Amino acid sequence: MALTQLPPTASPAAAYEGILRRQSSRESAARTYARSLPIVPVRARGLTIEGADGRRYLDCLSGAGSLALGHNHPVVLEAIRSVLDSGAPLHVLDLATPVKDAFTDELFATLPRGLAAAGRIQFCSPAGTDAVEAAFKLVRTATGRDGLMAFTGAYHGMTEGALAASGGAPGDRVTRLPYPQDYRCPFGVGGENGARLAARWTESLLDDPKSGVRRPAGMIVEPVQGEGGVLPAPDGWLRRMRELTAARSIPLIADEVQTGVGRTGAFWAVGHSGIEPDVMVLSKAIGGSLPLAVIVYREALDAWQPGDHAGTFRGNQLAMAAGAATLRYVRENGLAGRAAALGGRMLDRLRRLAEEYDCIGEVRGAGLMIGIEFVEREDGAGSVARAEDAAEAGDEAGSTARPAAGPEGGGGPAPGTRVGPADGAQPGTGRGPGADGPLPASPARAVAVQQECLRRGLIVELGGRHSCVVRLLPPLNITDEQAEAVLDRLADAVAAVCRPGSRIPGIPAPSTPKEAGAASPA
Ligand code: PMP
Repeated sequence: MALTQLPPTASPAAAYEGILRRQSSRESAARTYARSLPIVPVRARGLTIEGADGRRYLDCLSGAGSLALGHNHPVVLEAIRSVLDSGAPLHVLDLATPVKDAFTDELFATLPRGLAAAGRIQFCSPAGTDAVEAAFKLVRTATGRDGLMAFTGAYHGMTEGALAASGGAPGDRVTRLPYPQDYRCPFGVGGENGARLAARWTESLLDDPKSGVRRPAGMIVEPVQGEGGVLPAPDGWLRRMRELTAARSIPLIADEVQTGVGRTGAFWAVGHSGIEPDVMVLSKAIGGSLPLAVIVYREALDAWQPGDHAGTFRGNQLAMAAGAATLRYVRENGLAGRAAALGGRMLDRLRRLAEEYDCIGEVRGAGLMIGIEFVEREDGAGSVARAEDAAEAGDEAGSTARPAAGPEGGGGPAPGTRVGPADGAQPGTGRGPGADGPLPASPARAVAVQQECLRRGLIVELGGRHSCVVRLLPPLNITDEQAEAVLDRLADAVAAVCRPGSRIPGIPAPSTPKEAGAASPA
C-alpha cells in the first residue's frame, strides 16, 4: 500500500478520522498546528492542499512561510528528480558537491552586495534555530564578547540560545530592546516619534556607562517580525540600528528565516532599508520546501575554528537542489516585485474590511506577509487579565506564537505600502490606538476567525502578541484570482465572527459593523 493511501477500513471517513485519532493519542502534547488544523493532507499543488476527506483548502500557511512557490512546484519537483535520477549521494555531511556548488552560486547571486562579493557561508543543521545558534557562536567568537541584544516580540527559534533571544522568554545574556510598532507603541505615540524613541533608548543603553549593559557580541533583528505579529521595521529605524551597531563594532545579525526569498516584496527584507547586515540567518524558503539552514556573513567574522559549529545533516542534497531551483525561479520571474504589488492590493482590500468591523484593530504587512490584529471593542472589552486568559485559549488552539515579555517598541511608517500611516489615526489601517491606547487584544476572535476560515476551506496562521493576529503567508506566485478567493473566504469568516449576534466563547458582546447599515460581506 502506498504511504499516501488511506489504510483500508470501512470507509474513507473512518480511515481519515482514525488517522487524526491516532495522532492525538500518540503525538506529543506540544504539537501545535495539528490542533488548530485537524486535516490529513494527501495531495497538494500550488496554493491548494487536498485532505484525505476529499476537501480542498487554500493554504496561506505555506509551511509557516517556507513555500515561496507553493506546494510541489514543477521546477522544485524537477530539481529533486534530477538529483535522484543522477545517482548522486543524498548524504554527504559538509563535503563539496556540484549540487551544493550550484546552490551556493545561486544564493550568493541574490545577496546584498558586500556579502555577495566577500561573504562566507556556513551550512547548519537544517532548522532555522540552529542557524541562529551558529550566528550567536560566530559573533561571540569573533568579538570575544558574550551578551546579545534582541527585541521585544522577536522569534528566533526553540533551541536554548535562540529561545533566550526571543521576546517571550527570559535570557540572562540578552538585553531586550523595544521593537517599533504603531498600534501597540509602548511610548504611546507610534509613527516616526515612536521609532525615534525606540532608537534613542537603544543608543542610551549602549552609551550610558551606568546603563548596566555591556557592549554585546551582536544585535539580532527580524526586518519584519513574523511570529511577533507581522510588524515591519521602519526603514529609518533599521538604518539607525545599522549606524549604531557599526559605529560600536557590534555585528548586526538579520534573521531572514521567514522574510527571505521575496516574501516581503524585496528579495531579502533588508533590501527595503538598503542596510547590509554583518550576518544573515537564512532558512525556510531557501530549501524549496525541504529542510535547509545557513548563515552568510562578512569574511572578517570568520574567526572560529574547524568543527566549532557542526552537525550531521548539513548536506541535504535534495534541499539544496530544490532551494537553488526556488531561488532561481523567484529571481528570474521577479516574484519579489509581484509580492510587493499583490500584497499592496491585498492590504488595501483588508483595510477596507477593517473599516467595516470594529473587531479589527489593525491591518499591516510587507509584501505577502500580512497580519490582521483582532481586538475587543470598547463596550465588550475585558480586562487585560481576560485578554490573557483568552491568549491561553489561543495557545491551546494551536498557535505557535509566544506572547512577548517586557515593553513593546514604538514605530514609524515605512515608505510605500509596507505599513499604514501612524500618529494614532491610521486611516484605512483599521483604527489607530486612539487617545486611550489600543483596544485589548482578542485572541478568542482570532482563533474563531481561523476556525471559520478552515470551515470555508482556507488555512491561515495565528501569531502576534496574545496570539490575536491572523496571518497570511500565501505563495509568491498566487494569481490575482486566487488572492481574491482567499480574501473572499477571509471576509466571510470575519463577518461570521464579528457580525451582530455572533458569539465567541469568552466574549460577551459581539462587534457590530462600524457604520450603521454597512454591508456584511457574509
Ligand atoms: N527565525 C525566525 C524569524 C522564524 O520565523 C523562525 C520560525 N518561525 C525561526 C527563526 C526558527 O526556525 P525553525 O522553526 O526552522 O527552527
